Amino acid sequence: MTVLERLEQRTGESRGIGFTIRTMEVFDQRGVLRRLGPIETATAGHFGGLPLDLGVLGAAHRAARTVPQSVTEQALEGWARELGADIRRGQEVQALEDTGDGVTVTVARGDNREILRARYLVGCDGGRSTVRKLAGFDFPGTDATTEMLLADVRGVELEPRMSGQQIGNGFLMVAKLPGGIHRLIVGERGIAPRRRTGPPPFSEVADLWKRLTGSDISHAEPVWVSAFGDAARQVTEYRRGRVLLAGDAAHVHLPAGGQGMNTSIQDSHNLGWKLASVLAGHAPEALLDTYHSERHEVGRRLLVNTRAQSQLILGGEEAQPLREALSELLQYPNVVRHLAAKASGLDIRYDVGGGTNPLLGRRLPHLPLTTGARRTSSTELLRAGRGVLLDLGDNARLRDRATPWRNRVDVVTGTADPEHALPGGTTAALVRPDGHVAWAAPGSHQDLATSLTRWFGPAT
Ligand SMILES: Cc1cc2nc3c(=O)[nH]c(=O)nc-3n(C[C@H](O)[C@H](O)[C@H](O)COP(=O)(O)OP(=O)(O)OC[C@H]3O[C@@H](n4cnc5c(N)ncnc54)[C@H](O)[C@@H]3O)c2cc1C
Repeated sequence: MTVLERLEQRTGESRGIGFTIRTMEVFDQRGVLRRLGPIETATAGHFGGLPLDLGVLGAAHRAARTVPQSVTEQALEGWARELGADIRRGQEVQALEDTGDGVTVTVARGDNREILRARYLVGCDGGRSTVRKLAGFDFPGTDATTEMLLADVRGVELEPRMSGQQIGNGFLMVAKLPGGIHRLIVGERGIAPRRRTGPPPFSEVADLWKRLTGSDISHAEPVWVSAFGDAARQVTEYRRGRVLLAGDAAHVHLPAGGQGMNTSIQDSHNLGWKLASVLAGHAPEALLDTYHSERHEVGRRLLVNTRAQSQLILGGEEAQPLREALSELLQYPNVVRHLAAKASGLDIRYDVGGGTNPLLGRRLPHLPLTTGARRTSSTELLRAGRGVLLDLGDNARLRDRATPWRNRVDVVTGTADPEHALPGGTTAALVRPDGHVAWAAPGSHQDLATSLTRWFGPAT
């Protein structure tokens, strides 16, 4: 795998500052968490500024707070290099051609041009994606109507307001980041986004802060200043021939509830194993179409929830009745669970074929297990990035049926602790490398061999 990044150096910018519960699970499944160092976690979340207890989900992980995106990028880059990825910095994609059997990419490196050939090209090149434009993807949606200013600063002591606060004619958010840095986000209603060619000066942030709060922060030392808006767009297809899109290249939205980077990571997590399987000659190319059908719907719902949150956060007095109505609904445990699952990336259910088993299409929760004399867990079993057929009923016939896929799927017989029994009386589950359940017994309409073929290619 070759990664082309136009920047010579990492920027050190930290847009995303946290992980959803699902990202924590996925990083644990791949053994990446330890690379990130100590992580502060919390159960407090919010939906459009209304407090939400994520603890009700009872997940093994909590959401992570205050991990700078630059730290995440560095950890993922180090891991990718160890796995053999060829990461080339200072190389900009400028042109591409899908030739049907591959993609030709023109790359600029300073004054030099190089032509590369790849079997597939994945555009992970952000909200202004060059790959998206060159490959002719449609990107419908709405332009930004409001601009927010962001400053990471040293030298001021401010009370954290992670869920944000309505104040005067605007709103603000304060988060404490590592290294004595505070993140401030401020916005004022009715001010249309400006055309900018660079980041705003810190004085603009300090002026707006003073207008809204009355306090002076102009003496603070800015570490990073930026502006962003509430534009909301999504491509109509995630794959065109041999070109695919992931992350902000496929969807942009207000970073409400800190979901953009997390959804982008989940896009890649969904696509990576499918691409690897097709390239290895196991699965047919059609497997890549499930990347679109699964992740486009997730992105569509992401835009719905961030647009709804935009109205709660950016709306003024006129949004107060909406906030009150939603606050009333949040007295009901089921409403809290529903929104907490949405904010945590745990509400996703892919179409893996019909059935009554409640796990079908959902992510397998962390499941402590005993296999033989060994203590392990579903999380640990997924570390190899392969499929796992989990046999919780010591079922020899089931194991036999999976034998022709053993080069792609690990078959594990184990016993779950009684207090962690899976829902629906589940005695067996076929888990994809991304941790989603593709088949489960009892209750799958498809038989095991059909599911194995669909997700891992024909028997060998
Ligand atoms: C203020 C703010 C706060 C945010 N907070 C959160 C948060 O708390 N949690 C969260 O989950 N998300 C958050 N987000 C969103 C998050 O930062 C993005 O969703 C995430 O960075 C998307 O990752 P990406 O890899 O798709 O794109 P990017 O991070 O934009 O990366 C794209 C990369 O492609 C490179 N590139 C671009 N064009 C080319 C080219 N032609 N050739 C080669 N390389 C190219 C760029 O240099 C860049 O390194 C926030 C965003 C903002 C603006």
